[in-house]
Amino acid sequence: MSTLRFDAMSTIGPAPLEQSVIEKVICRGRHIDIQWDDGIILSTSLRFTGQWHLYRVGEQWRKETHRARVVIEVSDWVAVCFDAAVVETFRVPDRGRHPQSGGVGPNISQVRCDMAVCTRNLLQYHDQSAMVVDVLADESVISGLGNVARSETLWAVGLSPFAKIGDLSYEDCETLVETAARISRLPHDSSSSVYGRNGHRCHRCHGTIECKVQGVQRRAIFWCPDCQQRLDRRLLPTDLIQGDHTPTHPAELLFISDAIAARKKSQIINDVRDFG
Ligand SMILES: [Zn+2]
Repeated sequence: MSTLRFDAMSTIGPAPLEQSVIEKVICRGRHIDIQWDDGIILSTSLRFTGQWHLYRVGEQWRKETHRARVVIEVSDWVAVCFDAAVVETFRVPDRGRHPQSGGVGPNISQVRCDMAVCTRNLLQYHDQSAMVVDVLADESVISGLGNVARSETLWAVGLSPFAKIGDLSYEDCETLVETAARISRLPHDSSSSVYGRNGHRCHRCHGTIECKVQGVQRRAIFWCPDCQQRLDRRLLPTDLIQGDHTPTHPAELLFISDAIAARKKSQIINDVRDFG
């Protein structure tokens, strides 16, 4: 569920980005931490007086507004922390981001980023069976690509987040890098096509956008299952994957998945013709 509002009054730490997703709530006695998918943690120490309340949107609060220390709003609910002794926010230490940790890929959000190195890193990824969504989150391949830009890039190129990196052609990787560069350099308040829009209609095909928490870093991915089917191995006919003939050549996989996508598209066009 994506965050629509975050207010931590009189706290100077970093705030989770709008539309970022709450991944974890950790309770240790009177100490409650909330973690977002963009790496921000809110830490509250309730001591004797503090309380967290959960309200429906629009519901009357049971304590005075001025006693609220934190307000978090998601689509239907508002969580309010009153009178907490300590309220802090901080960013989870991320070793991959540290400039001296080594092996960090070119920063795609910078104009002087070496795009050819990014493309090569994608093509030569050590685990060819890894899913493209996870590879894009690996900072040793490309750095500076945030969670929002990751979902938006895959949508823009119409590629399934669950495509295997080894199935991508050189042109696929090049397009992916160019698109990621363009999207990650957009102003932060640009409207999103899929990120934070789960349950809403896709602007391109009117399908319903989905959300899934993915990978070891447990980051949320938003995608349209209707127009982002390209190279999705889960959609290939099982007899082609498990039968006598297993397509392994990227061109053949591309052909098959494009054929499935084209069939789906023609079905949508026929449906529109029939009902519209
Ligand atoms: Zn779509």
